[in-house]
Amino acid sequence: MTAGWSARLRRRDRKGQDLVTMSLDAPELQPGVEDVLAVLRSIGIVLDDSDAVVRSTQAAVQHGLVREGELVHRDLVELAREVRRSGEIRETELDLPRGPLGRGRMVAHVRAARLSTGHVLLLVDDRTHANRVDEVRRDFVANVSHELKTPVGGLVLLAEAVQDAADDPEAVHRFAGRMKVESERLTRLVKEIVDLSRLQVADTLTEPVPVDVAGAAADAADRCRLVAEGKGVEITVTTGDRAVVYGDRELLTTAIRNLVDNAVAYSDDGAPVRVTVERVDDLVQVVVSDLGAGIPQDEQDRVFERFYRVDPARSRSTGGTGLGLSIVKHVVANHGGEVRLWSQTGQGSTFTLSFPAAALTDLGEHQPRP
Ligand code: ADP
Repeated sequence: MTAGWSARLRRRDRKGQDLVTMSLDAPELQPGVEDVLAVLRSIGIVLDDSDAVVRSTQAAVQHGLVREGELVHRDLVELAREVRRSGEIRETELDLPRGPLGRGRMVAHVRAARLSTGHVLLLVDDRTHANRVDEVRRDFVANVSHELKTPVGGLVLLAEAVQDAADDPEAVHRFAGRMKVESERLTRLVKEIVDLSRLQVADTLTEPVPVDVAGAAADAADRCRLVAEGKGVEITVTTGDRAVVYGDRELLTTAIRNLVDNAVAYSDDGAPVRVTVERVDDLVQVVVSDLGAGIPQDEQDRVFERFYRVDPARSRSTGGTGLGLSIVKHVVANHGGEVRLWSQTGQGSTFTLSFPAAALTDLGEHQPRP
């Protein structure tokens, strides 16, 4: 018998049918059928003319489609009968319960055919995960279109306002200023969407090189300084040495920058923001903390989702896109690290990124420039 396949002698016996037809030595299936089925990725089930399962892959049992030599789902039995009657190959998608308990569903793509022996063959693919991925992608596209509509719509209205106010230089000046803000938001949104799409496509880094994380954090803080100074927020960066990881410097800088940007944006005027980089044993840790608004406990997982904002109005007023933390999450994952969040409403937030540190002995003369 081919590995992974099982014959169901007992069922046939109990139904009082001739055992000889089910003998393992003389299976009724054409020689080679099992071999072919064992190679296919799909779950395979072969039924005889009384709907009893005469062969099934292990996966058929593991996915709860076959139990004690019988098909569990009525829909599959009916499909098999129809194919046996008509002789035509059928292909369909069924939404089946995962098991007798709970609300779990399985999206099963099923192909059914009558074999020349009179058996019915069912090939089943579990499409649940693939469908979920498609759904997430569709959601993303819908969200992106929605997010783009706001600044684009704003620009159209402002352009009309400028036209109408052609004789009023002061109004033209004001509307032009707002057009600039909307255009900047649009540019940032498009850049972040592209960054995120790239990060999601590439699960790993193609060419990791030694990166001095302290340097990346200093760059990230510098890029936020202008906005921080406008609010009287002082960003303090404290770094230790030997904080080297294998990765992509630009991506690491972007991730830290997104955290510092948020720390500044969600802090009150004049509040301090701290960035610490240090090597702790075999890890490099980046800690970004603020004493700002904080994030409620039940929102702390959700803030890493694309376009999720605790307070959409505040996020918009600070020019937020809702993508910053999602980018952080992907950059960290691509570097084999993790992100942790501590936060308390009204007291502030601390984001900790941990990355596997490069072994100093491996670095040799490839030490990054300080
Ligand atoms: P945004 O561009 O809106 O800031 P992010 O993905 O960077 O998007 O963050 C998602 C949400 O998480 C923000 O809208 C905000 O509600 C919350 N958030 C992120 N960082 C902080 C922080 N340091 N303090 C308070 N809230 C924060």
